[in-house]
Amino acid sequence: MTTYVYDFSTGGRDMADLLGGKGANLAEMARMGLPVPPGFTVTTEACRIFLATGQAPDGLDRQIGEHLAALQRAAGRRLGQVDDPLLLSVRSGARFSMPGMMETILDIGLNDLSVLGLAKTPEGERFAWDSYRRLVQMFGTTVMGVDGSHFEAVLTAVREQHRRGDDTQLDTCDLMRIVETFKDVIQERTGEEFPQDPAEQLRRAVLAVFASWNGERARLYRRREHIPDDLGTAVTIQTMVFGNLGPDSGSGVAFTRDPATGRPGVYGDYLPNAQGEDVVAGIRNPVPLQDLAGLDPASFARLRGHMEQLEAHYRDLCDIEFTIERGTLWMLQTRVGKRTAQAAFAIASQLADEGLISEQEALGRVGGEALARLMFPRFAATESSEVIARGVPASPGAAVGAVVFDSAEAVRRAAAGEKVVLVRQETTPEDLPGMIAAQAVLTSRGGKTSHAAVVARGMGTVCVCGAEGIVVDARERRMRAGGVTVPEGTVVSVDGSEGVVRLGSVPLVDSDVMRYFEDGGVLPADGTARQQVRDVHRFVRQADAVRSLEVRANADTPEDAARARRFGAQGIGLCRTEHMFLGDRRPLVEAVILAHGDTEREAALAALLPLQRQDFTGILEAMDGLPVTVRLLDPPLHEFLPDRTELAVRLARREALGAPADPHDCELLAAVTRMREENPMLGLRGVRLGLVVPGLVAMQVRALAEAVVARRRAGGDPRAEIMVPLVDAAEELHLVREEVDRVLAQVSQETGVEVTCPVGTMIELPRAALTAGRIAKEAAFFSFGTNDLTQTTWGFSRDDVEAAFFSAYLDKGVFSVSPFETIDREGVGRLVRIAVEEGRAARPDLKIGVCGEHGGDPASIHFFHQAGLDYVSCSPFRVPVARLEAGRAAL
Ligand code: ADP
Ligand code: MG
Ligand code: MG
Repeated sequence: MTTYVYDFSTGGRDMADLLGGKGANLAEMARMGLPVPPGFTVTTEACRIFLATGQAPDGLDRQIGEHLAALQRAAGRRLGQVDDPLLLSVRSGARFSMPGMMETILDIGLNDLSVLGLAKTPEGERFAWDSYRRLVQMFGTTVMGVDGSHFEAVLTAVREQHRRGDDTQLDTCDLMRIVETFKDVIQERTGEEFPQDPAEQLRRAVLAVFASWNGERARLYRRREHIPDDLGTAVTIQTMVFGNLGPDSGSGVAFTRDPATGRPGVYGDYLPNAQGEDVVAGIRNPVPLQDLAGLDPASFARLRGHMEQLEAHYRDLCDIEFTIERGTLWMLQTRVGKRTAQAAFAIASQLADEGLISEQEALGRVGGEALARLMFPRFAATESSEVIARGVPASPGAAVGAVVFDSAEAVRRAAAGEKVVLVRQETTPEDLPGMIAAQAVLTSRGGKTSHAAVVARGMGTVCVCGAEGIVVDARERRMRAGGVTVPEGTVVSVDGSEGVVRLGSVPLVDSDVMRYFEDGGVLPADGTARQQVRDVHRFVRQADAVRSLEVRANADTPEDAARARRFGAQGIGLCRTEHMFLGDRRPLVEAVILAHGDTEREAALAALLPLQRQDFTGILEAMDGLPVTVRLLDPPLHEFLPDRTELAVRLARREALGAPADPHDCELLAAVTRMREENPMLGLRGVRLGLVVPGLVAMQVRALAEAVVARRRAGGDPRAEIMVPLVDAAEELHLVREEVDRVLAQVSQETGVEVTCPVGTMIELPRAALTAGRIAKEAAFFSFGTNDLTQTTWGFSRDDVEAAFFSAYLDKGVFSVSPFETIDREGVGRLVRIAVEEGRAARPDLKIGVCGEHGGDPASIHFFHQAGLDYVSCSPFRVPVARLEAGRAAL
């Protein structure tokens, strides 16, 4: 017979899967000898059975009955007895803390008779009827499904009728009447009586807590926190204790350290003469926990002792719920407490210093996401400024600027020294200059992996996306937001950590941690140094010492490369060359595309050559002595041409005016039309482009080779690598390599400087992964392009699927996190493993890395470590995060 119920004395904290965090920790405290009201816990397994079948498992009732009998024997009181009845709480508690997201029902066991027993003392009368009132209300809503507003309406009516200010002023008579009316409400709404049988109350309460696992709040919370939907909740059944029996009673919450800063000490709130739920509900203002020292020194001293014991036992920050009943302290809950990013680093560091945990354990407790949070500037205070929009917090941090509604305006104002916030319905690659110029990007459409979000995160730019409440009118240069019209130039404050936009300028503070990385990881001199920076330094350095993954950066400009290096990058894993074809070089690219014949095209390419060489020279200089992986041109050429509709409109307008058609525009339109593709992402791009546009690869390779020569002559140590995108077949790579070798030989001969460059390939198509053995024979290295690989493995178009159905997929549990955010280990990850294995078998010295968004994602980094990769490459701002996570992965 399966055991579905565990007494506190038989559980422990290692049983959280089965008993939930709350049940497991209550058992742990009981075993430690702390004063815990007696009780037992129904397992998550019982809940899972209930959720699957709609019924409690066989034997559950009997097992609960046996434990209840034992509890009653030990207490010398029975549930529902007329004199001094035993009362119970029925509490939810999942494996992962979901505070307040599920139901808890208090005072089970009260009925028309036992309420009299509870009220036997005169001062107990009001308390007893208030408890009964709470039970009927709680049971009516959570168990019997009556809308809470019906009860609220009754309360309000009684309050008004008797001119009571708030619930605490209701007297016993009021409460008795309210209970009667509540029972009538239940009868009217459900056709059922409020159950007087305590056993039935208990049974139904347990099932209601099970069912609350699938409540709307709980599901939403799980989705946000990436908690799986199939775990279920445990249910703890526990003897009630009362904090509302007079001035020598009360309830509170306590932290063994400050969860905001990590500082040790006594932190928390205490509410005299109250039940714990009143503290959370904020009905009355609590006093600081320290005040308990004056109110009840004995309980305070005992509590402090328990807190020390708990922290030493859990070896971490604990948060605690407690109740004092007539001078007797009871511990109602503890768990390893949530904390801010700052506190996470501080606490791990302190505990390691105190010798409570090892250095390794400490490193395990600080995370990349927390570090990322410490690197962004913050708003000093959120003041009272008006919130005008809410959206997805896509790229954290704080930014202030004037709103603009197109890229050109953003660039124009930024060039004039103004800080701007680019607001678009959604962004496209065309908006890139504006996004670079802007302090923040705000969109009314799109999710966490929309273009705006991905690009902004990569650049470390603040982004709030999918703010559905705003209506962008780019033509009129204004938006409607939060009921106001916001014209261009209005200053707003964008909080990318909260996903909130406020009107006006909220002051910003610089992050010390960011300054530390900008200084190349050198600790500031004592005095100015903040402890926070020291803590970060300690763990990032420790991670560097233990990690086997190298960390490189994705950088396209000398400035980005230099920053990446200051942040600790060990090279560039992805240098995209397409950015080098934009801006004022566009006419040159157009000339390449429109060229009539080889001579014209060669001339156009020749004009691009010195510009590319200059770009490469700058990057190689910034990364001197470290590898720089240059990817040959990847996107389809038409991306470098003007928009087709725009062109057509321009031509039509001239025609309407009777002006002669602009021949250049005509030619452009023809070219755009000729090159139009239904699925450009699966069309003429990457290596395919290099194989069909004569001279393109040669120009890029020559520019790089000449840059290498220039750097060598300047006494540098350039380490260029050439990476071929979107390879499907070994033959493609073979053809490109022949071209590369030819150009390198030419340049070597012309300059007298021997230039060699390893040639490698992206693995970003399933076919490439599956034929990695053959491809490896042609490749010096692999770099997984996990964005495209995810796209092509799932058959998802990244630019389209998010808005279309990702939220439904997340809702329905197809996946709990977007595969563009965290690598899909099962599918995409399998391809990665196959490619690693077959690639290394064919070429043991094959160097393997990953570039693309996943390279900076903590969970994905752990996977890449396990898969045996040599390096991850991510945006410069994520480099410290990746260093830290690579270290943690190696623990
Ligand atoms: P949550 O998970 O939402 O915090 P809890 O199970 O902790 O829910 O219950 C909410 C509150 O109910 C607790 O903070 C505590 O104040 C009160 N409570 C629960 N069980 C008892 C009990 N046995 N005696 C007194 N109060 C209780
Ligand atoms: Mg609680
Ligand atoms: Mg790609």
